[in-house]
Amino acid sequence: MNKSYDIAVIGAGPAGLIAAGRAAMLGVKVVLLEKMEKPARKLRITGKGRCNITNMKPLEDYLKEISPEPRFLRQAFGAFFNQDIINLLDENGVATKVERGERVFPSSDKAWDVAEALINWTKKNGAEIYNHSQVNALIVENGIAVGIKVCNTKTGLSEPISCKRIIVATGGKSYPATGSTGDGYKFAESAGHTVVKLRPSLVGVETKQVFKSGIGLELRNISATLWIDGKKSACDFGEAVLTDYGLDGPIILRLSRLIVDSIIAKKRIEIALDLKPALNDQKLEARLQRDITDLGKKDVKSLLKLLLPSLLIEIFIDILRINPIKPVNQLNGTEKKGIINHLKDLRFEVTGYRGWGEAIITAGGIPIKEINPKTMESKIVKNLYFAGEVIDVDGNTGGYNLQIAFSTGWLAGESSAKQVLESI
Ligand SMILES: Cc1cc2nc3c(=O)[nH]c(=O)nc-3n(C[C@H](O)[C@H](O)[C@H](O)COP(=O)(O)OP(=O)(O)OC[C@H]3O[C@@H](n4cnc5c(N)ncnc54)[C@H](O)[C@@H]3O)c2cc1C
Repeated sequence: MNKSYDIAVIGAGPAGLIAAGRAAMLGVKVVLLEKMEKPARKLRITGKGRCNITNMKPLEDYLKEISPEPRFLRQAFGAFFNQDIINLLDENGVATKVERGERVFPSSDKAWDVAEALINWTKKNGAEIYNHSQVNALIVENGIAVGIKVCNTKTGLSEPISCKRIIVATGGKSYPATGSTGDGYKFAESAGHTVVKLRPSLVGVETKQVFKSGIGLELRNISATLWIDGKKSACDFGEAVLTDYGLDGPIILRLSRLIVDSIIAKKRIEIALDLKPALNDQKLEARLQRDITDLGKKDVKSLLKLLLPSLLIEIFIDILRINPIKPVNQLNGTEKKGIINHLKDLRFEVTGYRGWGEAIITAGGIPIKEINPKTMESKIVKNLYFAGEVIDVDGNTGGYNLQIAFSTGWLAGESSAKQVLESI
């Protein structure tokens, strides 16, 4: 490693790799420092090892999936969007395919291939990548970023590196074993930035009701309504999973940002699962009556078998407190109403949420008002840039978070390199 570079990029995740590769492509001298033994450890486990690279929705729909202020990303998406990452990967040997919900995956279904292609592309463009290289501090003089302090985690030796521009791409705080331990927030704070409160997001929720016999059950084609302080606040349709702590799965993850913020605000939260969203109360009642007529003297368990996945039958019998061997033609009006009510509104009282070890992303981070959206440069410290999850902007599940990393990385790499070239 040299003592001096044009641009130092901290963190070789998707944002850092793209930033370093794009800057090097423009002809400046770039070093990319990664504290782990290899780059992109988190990227390698994305999408359950398959990597949901991006999403093919048009820009306006895309922006609806991003919080807290999607407009901040307009220029970054304008510089490098979904088709650009697909083309880049294609040119580097990774073909892609589009699946349900416009989600893009590598044709090989291997996140590992995406990581290796990005590393090769970054190196091919001329950036130097060093593993086991942990940045411990930024060097800022008179409000200008001028260098970093790097420690070799194998030898324990530290050295300063001077550089004309720094890009912080250290990721968030979730899945810390991958290397994302929130270092970038400390760097930013020490340089004079503020940090929007960090919260785990896209995360499972803990509930008072835990259905032990249903653990692992995937409830498909259901809807979930979120009740906050007794007010209907959000609704989503899709799949939820019963877990040993409460609820997980795509719809719960999508609702989790609101849930976490409401818990922090000490609000009362309930989730109502509608197991039969395609049928309103009257239609469900008619269906139940038909089933009862067909079953005649058969027992309640047989009726529930027609209405529920098998793992939910015992749970319903418990909740409804109906004798499971009671003949269905002897069910009274209250018991029938109870079945309908619970099918349409299976309630969970939310007591908490899972921690950093399980959250897919970090909400909060470097405030967007402290970053120039046209360049990703800090408005507080000259020559300092941010890219990726370290910024206070995050997306839903569906490939949006990786695209945020790619787009902000590209823009930070491009604008920092152009500024270096202009200053020569
Ligand atoms: C289990 C899981 C599955 C996911 N699946 C998807 C998916 O399919 N699609 C999607 O869009 N998003 C997914 N995400 C989210 C996505 O992975 C992140 O949003 C994305 O990786 C953020 O990229 P980044 O480059 O900003 O940060 P990171 O990927 O976190 O990379 C930051 C890098 O910086 C390094 N670093 C940190 N501090 C230092 C330091 N001081 N010195 C040197 N290096 C440092 C870290 O070791 C790390 O390599 C998933 C996340 C998880 C946890």
